[in-house]
This record gives sequence, C-alpha cells and structure tokens, in this order.
Amino acid sequence: MFSIVLGTNNRKKGIELAELLAPFNINVQTLSDFENKIDVNEDGTTFLENARKKAAEQARFLNAWVIGEDSGLSVDALDGAPGVYSARFAVFSEKSSEDRANASDEDNNRLLLEKLGDTPLEKRTAHYTCAAAFADPSGNIQCEYEQYCRGRILFEPTGTGGFGYDPLFEIVEYHRTLGELKPVVKRVISHRARTMRLLIPTIVRIF
Ligand code: IMP
Repeated sequence: MFSIVLGTNNRKKGIELAELLAPFNINVQTLSDFENKIDVNEDGTTFLENARKKAAEQARFLNAWVIGEDSGLSVDALDGAPGVYSARFAVFSEKSSEDRANASDEDNNRLLLEKLGDTPLEKRTAHYTCAAAFADPSGNIQCEYEQYCRGRILFEPTGTGGFGYDPLFEIVEYHRTLGELKPVVKRVISHRARTMRLLIPTIVRIF
C-alpha cells in the first residue's frame, strides 16, 4: 500500500479528493493528519503555479509524495475574477473589516452577486478551474494537469450541497446549481473530478 498526501487544509476539498481516490489501493492522508506541516504561501498568479508550489514545498518538508491542488472560479463578466483569489475574494473588499486569510463562503457569494449586479443571465458565464501537481518526496514535479467545469452565476443561491460558490453556480445542461445536484453528480462533472481522472492513472503508473 502506497501513501500520498493531499496538500490541502480545506477540509471539504480534502473529502472530495479522498472520495475520488478511494477506489484505488492508495492510502490517502491530508494535511490535517500531520502535526508538523508548512503553510505554503499561495502567491502564484495562476492556478498551476500555486498547485506546483503547494506540492513541491510540502513534499520536501514532509518527505512524502504530495498532490498540490489549487482551484477557483473565473467569471467572464468580471475579467476572470475572483480567479486565484477565490477563497479570499471578500477579504479584499472595502467592506471587510477583518484581517483574515480567507473569507466565508457567504461573504464571497454576496460580493460576487454585488459585483455582477444586474448583468443579464446570458452574460454571467463562468468556469471553475482545478490545477493539480504531483511531487515526489524530493519536491520534483512528476506530472501536472488542469481541467474545467463550465456554468453560469445565478441571481441568488439555490441548494445547500457542495461548498464555496456552488449554490450560485448553475450547470446549464442540468438546470441546477452545484448546490442542488447530488454529490455523486459533482464527483463526475466537477473540475476536480476531471483533473483527478487525468492525474490518478499517472499516479497508479508511477507507483
Ligand atoms: P484554494 O483552497 O486556495 O484552492 O481556494 C479554492 C477556493 O475556490 C475555494 O475556497 C472556493 O471559494 C473556490 N472553489 C474551488 N473549488 C470549488 C468548488 O468545487 N465549489 C465551489 N467553490 C470552489
């Protein structure tokens, strides 16, 4: 049995990733299983840059095989925002008085709706991106992938499933938000699922 570490502190993301890797004979740990870990500074300008950093720095520190993952939402009418700032979107808003690393999902969703204002539905197109990089214990990147999930941003949140921007993110073909769709559907169509479907066979081959 081989062990890999998912280099994320985001518990819900960790659960999603672990579920995707569950069918394989690979022991999956997350950063919450380690007392000693580093806080990687996510200062890259692209999702892939951040994914590589998270994988390489954490792998070297933990002396382990690590998947670094970075994801977020890009809205066309906002020139790709919040992009790599998805988790911190509302932290940078003028209205935020707190000094926090990340904003709550509710604050981020509220700010997104505010910025889109009355932009018509057909111009509210958006996509999620998931970049993942796999580093060996010396911190060398062995492979990397990036995939997308396309949809549009509705005018109000619907559904309580998923996390982050999911209650606002409509999958047009399903007429449902990711907050309404069952986890089993998200496990097939999400940006993370698509990236993992490319990454997992490579990991299995490496091991
Ligand atoms: P990261 O943990 O720095 O990669 O930040 C990812 C952020 O992007 C999350 O905190 C969410 O705001 C957003 N995000 C990424 N993936 C999803 C998803 O599947 N659903 C909803 N929001 C997501």
